[in-house]
Amino acid sequence: MIKSPYLTEEHHLFRQTIREFIAKELQPHFAEWEKNKEIPRWAWEKMGEMGYLGICHEEAYGGLQADMFSNVVFNEELSRSLNSGFAIAMAVHIYMATNHISHAGSPTQKEKYLAPAIAGKKIAALGMSEPHVGSNVKGLKTTAKLDGDHYVVNGSKIFITNGYYADYMTLCCMTDEGLSLLIVDLDSPGVSRNKLEKIGWWSSDTAEVFFEDVRVPKENLLGEAGKGFYYLSESLQMERLVLAMNSVGLMDGVWDITMQYMQEREAFGKPLAKMQALRHRMAQIKSELESVRQLIYHTAWQIDNGVFAVNECSMCKLLSAELHTRFVDECLQMFGGYGYMEEYPIAQVYRDARCAPIIGGTSEIMKEIIAKMSIDGVEYKKAY
Ligand SMILES: Cc1cc2nc3c(=O)[nH]c(=O)nc-3n(C[C@H](O)[C@H](O)[C@H](O)COP(=O)(O)OP(=O)(O)OC[C@H]3O[C@@H](n4cnc5c(N)ncnc54)[C@H](O)[C@@H]3O)c2cc1C
Repeated sequence: MIKSPYLTEEHHLFRQTIREFIAKELQPHFAEWEKNKEIPRWAWEKMGEMGYLGICHEEAYGGLQADMFSNVVFNEELSRSLNSGFAIAMAVHIYMATNHISHAGSPTQKEKYLAPAIAGKKIAALGMSEPHVGSNVKGLKTTAKLDGDHYVVNGSKIFITNGYYADYMTLCCMTDEGLSLLIVDLDSPGVSRNKLEKIGWWSSDTAEVFFEDVRVPKENLLGEAGKGFYYLSESLQMERLVLAMNSVGLMDGVWDITMQYMQEREAFGKPLAKMQALRHRMAQIKSELESVRQLIYHTAWQIDNGVFAVNECSMCKLLSAELHTRFVDECLQMFGGYGYMEEYPIAQVYRDARCAPIIGGTSEIMKEIIAKMSIDGVEYKKAY
């Protein structure tokens, strides 16, 4: 990794602490989680005890309220351990589901939902995608109709990370005022869920969630009714940047295992790492990785300095996700036949990688945003 002016000695120490924690406490269990397709509750609680589930949240509710580059380091390290299912489960919980409570929630909502999520006692999911609509949030059909002191929710969500085991969902739904966010306890009568089978990300559960006349107290509305689109747009920038950080961290981990293999494996009397054709391929992807990292760091710095960096966040997500799949494919090739064997970590990484250009806004949607801003001069404003 190129030395970065954004990272201080504290960030390097923080990186070391997370790396050691994951290697010692979690990594020995990764194979079991992949097999069982579930992250056990104790692991969430351990992450909570370390403060990591509240890394960007307020100290008043148990969070670390860490600076932006501690978040960068954290996300890189989450993925560097090569279990993308685990990394995405944590990222969704922290940056996509509970972040809305942190930003728009009332003190009561924070006590009830944010604090236990930070402690790892409650698992959170974000319910945006629906069976008939994913990329276009404005077309959501799940409704929440006010009936006395309650909203009555009807509809369904699909592809929901943490959705099968989560305790609650930050639900995107249509109220009379427009798109709104509602916190829904997933043990409420009328909620049912179905676990989905995926190509990769096995440690992370993904669900279809159905709502049939689910009564949700009206005090569970997040912020103002009808402001959901603005809340989502605001949060999507950090969400996309976090996914980009995750991709970069994953590539760091893949680089390490590939380099180790290329030093050890010999063909035609010399290590693979000494073969020019292979070295050049690795040099190419390493250069691309470092350039994407620099864009991510610059964008993180912009956000930290109050810039609503929609264009840059979209570019980070697009470039990192596209490189992610290609990088892993290139590295797998270095392993020859062994790369295709499940017992080699690169095989799991290869399965996992395919989701990068799909989740959190597809590459096509990122290009749409970039084109609108760069070609048509469209501007987006901060919601809060
Ligand atoms: C493993 C996994 C976990 C997920 N976790 C969550 C989660 O926790 N919460 C959640 O809400 N969602 C989640 N998603 C959903 C994910 O965000 C959506 O799959 C994604 O946004 C795409 O939506 P879609 O699948 O409906 O595709 P569609 O919107 O139907 O798009 C299909 C294809 O058309 C392209 N396309 C669509 N519109 C345009 C356009 N205007 N121009 C050009 N091309 C276009 C898309 O890029 C895509 O290639 C998850 C998905 C997966 C696979």
